[in-house]
Amino acid sequence: MRVLVTGGAGFIGANLCQHLLGQDWVDSIAVIDDLSTGFEANLAGLDVDFFEGSILDVDALGTAMLGADAIVHLAARPSVPRSISEPLLSHAANATGTLNVLDVARGLDDPLVIVASSSSVYGANPTLPKHEGLLAQPMSPYAVSKLAAEQYTLAWQHSYGMRTLPFRFFNVFGPLQAAGHAYAAVIPAFVDAALREVPLTVHGDGTQSRDFTYVGTVCETIGTAIRDQISHDAPVNLAFNTRTTLLAVIEELESLLGRRLLPEHVGSRVGDVPHSQADDSTVRALFPSVEPVDLASGLAATVEWMKTQTTSD
Ligand code: NAD
Repeated sequence: MRVLVTGGAGFIGANLCQHLLGQDWVDSIAVIDDLSTGFEANLAGLDVDFFEGSILDVDALGTAMLGADAIVHLAARPSVPRSISEPLLSHAANATGTLNVLDVARGLDDPLVIVASSSSVYGANPTLPKHEGLLAQPMSPYAVSKLAAEQYTLAWQHSYGMRTLPFRFFNVFGPLQAAGHAYAAVIPAFVDAALREVPLTVHGDGTQSRDFTYVGTVCETIGTAIRDQISHDAPVNLAFNTRTTLLAVIEELESLLGRRLLPEHVGSRVGDVPHSQADDSTVRALFPSVEPVDLASGLAATVEWMKTQTTSD
């Protein structure tokens, strides 16, 4: 089987390529990435056919997609704050880019198309845990663009009979997730600050909570979906009904590192939702063999990886 990973030079994409290369049912992997937030170095040593190009370029997309049996569409401009600064760019990459991927995929021979959406689509809806039937109430341009992406994906299923699977990812973390930039996610930002022994920037009082998902669990779920050819006619939360406050993440890091850490509280960020927790009944029913990696083990792996980064810098 040939798998195309869009955004394969990014954090989740490169972890996924690594995971797929270990599967005996995978014959080859292609990646298309414009390296806007990803790094070619993430793919160093991995046997993938790398196409540097944008999903906004339909010809480049057609070339990269040639012969693909499955597509995992991860390419996007991630981050809520980035979308608030640059809403048009966010829409172009995330909504129009997804439309391009789906439309070019129509020329393939019955592919399975897996698409990354986001828990941010639940937005202002306060119900916990978030089940997929809840009303989406996006609070940021990023969330709207992801809602458009997943709904286009479902429309392609209904309109063209394409086999598709839209996943809603919730705060994914793990090795290869970049810290040290303005839009860094919270776990790499915390781990990076902790290892550099500088204060950990906490937006708000730190009681906001997230359903953190280790990247290995995400890759295993996607890999199982491709191997077993699983599609679904509605979005699927890819998270496992856990909820951890930022303050609890700091405590977990303190016990891993064996020392106290200093949080520095700054103002809350516009567009951030207060709490997030996935109802996991759909993902559990579709993927009964997947056992999620717990937060402590995932954090330990993340710290180990980040140590190799800080020492080689
Ligand atoms: P990432 O920034 O590391 O990866 C995104 C990749 O897409 C990058 O390599 C980037 O260069 C590439 N890209 C961006 N625009 C492109 C374009 N026009 N053409 C080709 N490539 C392009 O981010 P990630 O965390 O690995 O996210 C992967 C996917 O998962 C994204 O769709 C993101 O929205 C979604 N997601 C991630 C999380 C999370 O917690 N990390 C949560 C919800 C959803």
